[in-house]
Amino acid sequence: MTGSPQAAPRAFVAGWPIAHSRSPLIHRYWLAQLGIAGTYDPVALAPNQAQAFFRGLPNPDQADGFVGGNVTIPHKQVAFSACDHVTAAAERLGSVNTLWIENGALYGDNTDGAGFTANLDQYAEGWDRHPGRAVVLGAGGAARAILVALSARGFGRISLVNRTLARAQEVARDLNLDLDIIPWERRGEALAGAGFLVNTTSLGMHGSPPLDLDLSGLSRDAIVTDLVYVPLQTDLLAAAGRLGLRSVDGLGMLLHQAVPGFVRWFKARPQVTDELRAHIIADLER
Ligand code: NAP
Repeated sequence: MTGSPQAAPRAFVAGWPIAHSRSPLIHRYWLAQLGIAGTYDPVALAPNQAQAFFRGLPNPDQADGFVGGNVTIPHKQVAFSACDHVTAAAERLGSVNTLWIENGALYGDNTDGAGFTANLDQYAEGWDRHPGRAVVLGAGGAARAILVALSARGFGRISLVNRTLARAQEVARDLNLDLDIIPWERRGEALAGAGFLVNTTSLGMHGSPPLDLDLSGLSRDAIVTDLVYVPLQTDLLAAAGRLGLRSVDGLGMLLHQAVPGFVRWFKARPQVTDELRAHIIADLER
């Protein structure tokens, strides 16, 4: 036998800024738990360096030697355009959050939608069994993934509520979805009789304004979920609880969207467990 032992696989999360990212905590937890000799590190990537960084990834001469990584705000579209191949999910959204190298080429996937549905499958079993009308608040990058995921799970009637109406119209056009587009001022009315509500805006997050919304019009068996996970128990979820509605927090989406990348880079399937949740929550509460 010749050759040196295989180097431990190295992965990254690239964003700008990046210090707030909990992805290193998640992946390092799994690496330790599964006894894998790999690394996962944050990379602070300025916008003017992003294209060169992503295009350089499949280059064997590049000193970093990464096997892949995650991409976060504001680089998801640039990373998409740098890929040689993307999954159908990424193609539909025009953005990637997961990269890996295969046969010298750069591959990209967008796992936000899969993370969203896996979270609901885990914590609100049967949530898509009788899909009524769904209401999506927000029309940003995350909303696109959620809209595609809801449509794929059989939600045929979706109301999209956004502050900037033109952005919501653009989303419907880009995704080729038949959405009921509703101005932000009429968000309360939009809830009347709806069976599913998701907040994809940044409202309710620490440091952002509150989400001002009366949930009393929702169907009595409605499910409410929030993409915001800092705080974990948002005012929206607390209000849903007071009305006796089922609710699911946004942390599970963050954990589940991380699984496919880990599988690609480290060749093992990690689990989203209560212990992992507790590990991340302890950090969020610091
Ligand atoms: P984004 O592209 O910047 O979109 C932000 C959305 O929030 C837009 O619809 C925007 O409306 C709306 N918004 C912001 N301020 C508002 C205000 N004052 N009043 C009304 N609407 C307002 O962001 P994103 O990438 O989609 O992320 C959205 C949220 O989801 C963030 O909190 C992010 O942390 C969270 N997220 C969580 C996960 C997870 O795993 N749990 C994954 C992805 C994202 P306009 O179009 O009018 O500007």
